[in-house]
Amino acid sequence: MSVTALYVHVPFCAQKCRYCDFDSRSFAPCDLDAALDAYFEQLYARLDAFGNAGALAGIRTVYVGGGTPSLAGERLVELARRISRWCKPVEFTCEANPESLTSQLAAALAEVGVTRISLGVQTLDNAELAAIGRIHDADRALAAIATVKAAGIDVSCDLMCGLPGQTAASWERTLDGVLTAAPHHVSVYPLTLEEGTPLYRMACRDESLEPDEDFQAACMDVARNRLGAAGYHPYEVASYALDGHECAHNIAYWTGQGYLGLGRSAAGMLDAGDFARLAGLFCGALARGDAYRVRLVQRDDAATTFDAECLSQREAAAEDLMLACRMTRGVGSDLLVRSANIIPEDELAAACDRAFELGLASWVSDDAKGHAGRVTSKDVIEGRTRARLAPTHLGWLDGNVLFELFWDLA
Ligand code: SF4
Repeated sequence: MSVTALYVHVPFCAQKCRYCDFDSRSFAPCDLDAALDAYFEQLYARLDAFGNAGALAGIRTVYVGGGTPSLAGERLVELARRISRWCKPVEFTCEANPESLTSQLAAALAEVGVTRISLGVQTLDNAELAAIGRIHDADRALAAIATVKAAGIDVSCDLMCGLPGQTAASWERTLDGVLTAAPHHVSVYPLTLEEGTPLYRMACRDESLEPDEDFQAACMDVARNRLGAAGYHPYEVASYALDGHECAHNIAYWTGQGYLGLGRSAAGMLDAGDFARLAGLFCGALARGDAYRVRLVQRDDAATTFDAECLSQREAAAEDLMLACRMTRGVGSDLLVRSANIIPEDELAAACDRAFELGLASWVSDDAKGHAGRVTSKDVIEGRTRARLAPTHLGWLDGNVLFELFWDLA
């Protein structure tokens, strides 16, 4: 099996945030325990099924996301314990929200092999937190960061810009507060209004709630400068880390590695060979004859229904190129040379040239630091020069245009 990453989804939250369209349910406290018990029993069974099929032995990274995994308390600890019976991951992340992360839970998770907690902080402004329907406040978020660090595990903070009522000054205060708390990793996302969410409906009535893209771009710039000055290097569109604290699990996604998904709405991605070996665990999901890669999404709690999306070898190559554009280091020579075995060289070179002409990416020599002025895409694609095509500032802010150039090669 070539699968090295495992994702587990815990679709429960104490209360639904106003902007959220993720799969997560909230229950009255009296019903929550029973719902969590039933859901985790199904997760344990699914985990054992994959383990017995030999699919977990090579797992290097685990990510338990949601939802709010920390809401599950001791069940989450038990899940981590059971996962560690099947594999010895080098990185094990659990998502948590400040209101449900206690010092006992953090210590218990550390004890059973969790190495990293990703905290939904979003902002340190209490009015902004209330406006988006978060149930924690800034003090609780800062306390949660300290709690994770005290347990001896890495902490990452998610932050959002473009929130209702957010100003340049409040964004800077949030960044300053987070930097003072000194997490190992920070992710910065612009708020998007997802159709069907309460915030979307509110913004339809009051357009002042709509995120301003120019303001969001300015916030992203300020974050990049502040975080950079504090030693957090940007390694992906939204991700900043102190050296050695990058998220290996997410890097596996962005570099086209196979991963397994467990739980309702969890996505997995397998190459066709691994899918054929594990097909019995994906109840009725079928792969097309030309499938090179299969993406599977579990549609129910009991793992009886899956959506399967098949990618041809060419589509998978285009996807790898697109994903590489998310990374600060960009599309490397090796990937370009490999891709040219699948995508006609002229088309690949034209996409690289277009990205360069639009100012979305530039060539950076792999041999020496700095821009490689005379590099041509053909030289790199044909293996005569080693250089990578890295997103520029414009390509970082306007990533979708860059991603599309490469996805269009599919
Ligand atoms: S905590 Fe996260 S998953 Fe849960 S409702 Fe809020 S944004 Fe959605």
